[in-house]
Amino acid sequence: MDALASRTIKTTCPYCGVGCGVNASVDALTSDVIIEGDKDHPANFGRLCSKGSQLGETLGLHDRLLHPAIGGRQASWDEATDRIAEAFSQAIEQHGPDSVALYVSGQLLTEDYYVANKLMKGFIGSANIDTNSRLCMASSVAGHKRAFGSDTVPGTYEDLELADLIVLTGSNLAWCHPVLFQRIAAAKQKRPGMRVVLIDPRRTPTAELADLHLPLTPDTDVAIFTGLLRHLARSPAIAPDYVETNTSGLDETLSNASSWTIEKVAEQCGLKPSDVALFYQWVAETERTVTVYSQGVNQSASGTDKVNAIINTHLITARIGTPGMGPFSVTGQPNAMGGREVGGLANMLASHLELANPEHRELVQTFWGSPTIANKPGLKAVDLFEAIHAGQIKALWVVATNPSVSLPDANRVDAALAKVPFLAVSDIVSSTDTLRHAARTGCVALPATGWGEKDGTVTNSERMISRQRAFLPAPGEARHDWQALCNVATKMGFGEAFSFENPTEVFDEHARLSGFKPEVRRDFDISGRAGLSQVAYDSMPPFRWPLRANGSQTERFFAGGAFFHADSRAKFVTTPVKAVEKHQPKYPFTLNTGRVRDHWHTMTRTGRSPRLSAHMGEPYCELHPDDASRLGIEPASLVRLSSPHGSIIVRALLSDGQQPGSVFVPMHWNDETASNARVDTLVKPDTDPMSGQPALKSSRVTVANADMA
Ligand code: SF4
Repeated sequence: MDALASRTIKTTCPYCGVGCGVNASVDALTSDVIIEGDKDHPANFGRLCSKGSQLGETLGLHDRLLHPAIGGRQASWDEATDRIAEAFSQAIEQHGPDSVALYVSGQLLTEDYYVANKLMKGFIGSANIDTNSRLCMASSVAGHKRAFGSDTVPGTYEDLELADLIVLTGSNLAWCHPVLFQRIAAAKQKRPGMRVVLIDPRRTPTAELADLHLPLTPDTDVAIFTGLLRHLARSPAIAPDYVETNTSGLDETLSNASSWTIEKVAEQCGLKPSDVALFYQWVAETERTVTVYSQGVNQSASGTDKVNAIINTHLITARIGTPGMGPFSVTGQPNAMGGREVGGLANMLASHLELANPEHRELVQTFWGSPTIANKPGLKAVDLFEAIHAGQIKALWVVATNPSVSLPDANRVDAALAKVPFLAVSDIVSSTDTLRHAARTGCVALPATGWGEKDGTVTNSERMISRQRAFLPAPGEARHDWQALCNVATKMGFGEAFSFENPTEVFDEHARLSGFKPEVRRDFDISGRAGLSQVAYDSMPPFRWPLRANGSQTERFFAGGAFFHADSRAKFVTTPVKAVEKHQPKYPFTLNTGRVRDHWHTMTRTGRSPRLSAHMGEPYCELHPDDASRLGIEPASLVRLSSPHGSIIVRALLSDGQQPGSVFVPMHWNDETASNARVDTLVKPDTDPMSGQPALKSSRVTVANADMA
């Protein structure tokens, strides 16, 4: 491996949404990549977790996709991009712009994402671009918009250290956002009065930090926060002046909450009334409260209601927009936030603008000088693959993601990939469950650059934009995703608008768009970084948005109100509590899916690291010992899980942190790493009606000893 240079390069970790700064250097003798935490980066101040520390082990040419291919045969870039442009253009001509789609990823850099979104929405004229970030934070986006009138994360990581009470709900922060967990742990050690409450059906490693763990019945979060709202309304914590001046809708929302007494909440959530009462008491008496939430909230058929039920409790107490308090959504992916900024979701427009708003559409179209602009929402992730079965999608380009493994009802998604008339897949590795479909006659595989080889920006969960910088050459014929998209756009006849020479030019356009027509009020604005020279972009330090053209910045949004609804008020959202799903004798277990500490997504990178693979060496099903004993399942024996959608075989891991009647299976393993272990083949394709986010944590399954099944 030739290094571009042996000096230390400051870049950003490509895994979770914490967005830690990384110092990378290449040993001149051995070519090993040496990784250290960046002490100057405000997300981590030098800390790294196991995944970040082992980044060096995940690099190298083994299993890399190095050349474009058409129908599985090596082809030139020219031939491959000709083929994509031809297939897309033909489909559009014959069936209209909504017959093509892009399915992209929170792994992309903002510059890649920007170009993809511009191509689809402004030039092809369809909003059929969605992203695997739909699986990670779409419910937060929808909840923010309902409450604030914009998709705005109010707070910063520093708030977690300043808080006196942190409520972690639906979040295994210790494994999924480890450096944030470390920051909270360090703050708690300094201030022993600080409390942590964990709300999670499982007793995860995060519980080690918790003063109170509430192991609620899966999917009953709306009830616990609705009861909390009622409790706060009757306590001295209510902020009547703030509510009067800065919010609307409390009366209706409180009326919906009126019956949710502590006893009723406890019954609904399967908790002790005394524990619920203690939690409510702590929240009521602690002004500096932050509620951190993640996939346990978002990945639910009522995910958006869960988000709003949480936000309601901060609005009624005016605990928002002030240091040490607020609702805080932590994103799963390294650039889920960047995708939101450029409109990488099928129902959003570039620059945090609204697809549904004619003034916003006109603004973006004018800025782009584009022939068209999408004027209705496109297909969201789950619907997009279903639309292939319905014959609507004729050409699909998948970029930097592996939907055959990660989407619910994965066998049906796999069948859609086998069926779509034209498929292109861009990836860094040569074998994924999705990529193999691109070897079909006439379909295309494109080699992409990966972490360490590409330049651009990412945005973390606290709105901090950081540079990812290259320190290795692109291997083989790999190209950057923004380049591949520009190549195809040019061949489709849109060349002038896609004549970017480098990511600096893409970033500049993105920054200028964010400040275009400043009279249109919006939260996202980085026009203060427009017009950067190459040198300035290369050396750009991390900064938090907004950063307006006049240099003004906002550390925390919503100080003293000033929300983005037309009346500048935040809205209380009424969140009906759904009945707990009845026991289903045919499928008696609730299946929860999620991450393990040392693997990332479908393991295309972490699977290369022996050290990371040593933590959890194979796929498993965590289940309660009482269930195991009843079913004749021995520790470490093989178990079969089945649902109406599929069946997998994994190893049993007995844990009393798991509730009886529930099981947990990690999301990472796939047909490339273990046979018959794609957990999402079991998952029902239900989605939240507001956000389209799949309910990845509440499918019904059977569990049986694999020898007897
Ligand atoms: Fe990377 Fe997240 Fe670990 Fe930080 S906490 S090193 S961003 S995986």
